[in-house]
Amino acid sequence: MSETLFTKIINREIPAEIVYEDDQCLAFKDINPQAPLHVLVIPKKSIAKLAHATPEDQALLGHLLLTANDVARDQGHADDFRLVINNGIEAGQSVFHLHVHILAGRSFSWPPG
Ligand code: 5GP
Repeated sequence: MSETLFTKIINREIPAEIVYEDDQCLAFKDINPQAPLHVLVIPKKSIAKLAHATPEDQALLGHLLLTANDVARDQGHADDFRLVINNGIEAGQSVFHLHVHILAGRSFSWPPG
């Protein structure tokens, strides 16, 4: 997979406000926040989009969700938050490195736009 700007954030080639890191993933503040808390959780493994994940990625995908839960709690939003994965251009994906959006700190409507 070609390198995206998220690979550059993982490699510290461009700056980001990192709030969590371990051997499998990185979480950092979104540069254009859509809520008082807007953090992206990304795998260090390059997966362009969720649709490209395989059974081999099962544990990693579970780890991303549990990490998102931990990050939301640690950022002061244990009870109310929204997780979003945009898969593909029509769904709103703009960076082709799998990421989970954590949004919290305001009310959210449904369905999303
Ligand atoms: P997508 O639209 O692919 O689901 O989400 C990509 C997200 O990455 C957007 O919310 C956008 O604001 C964020 N983003 C794009 N470029 C950067 C950047 O250079 N740094 C950070 N921290 N976030 C970025």
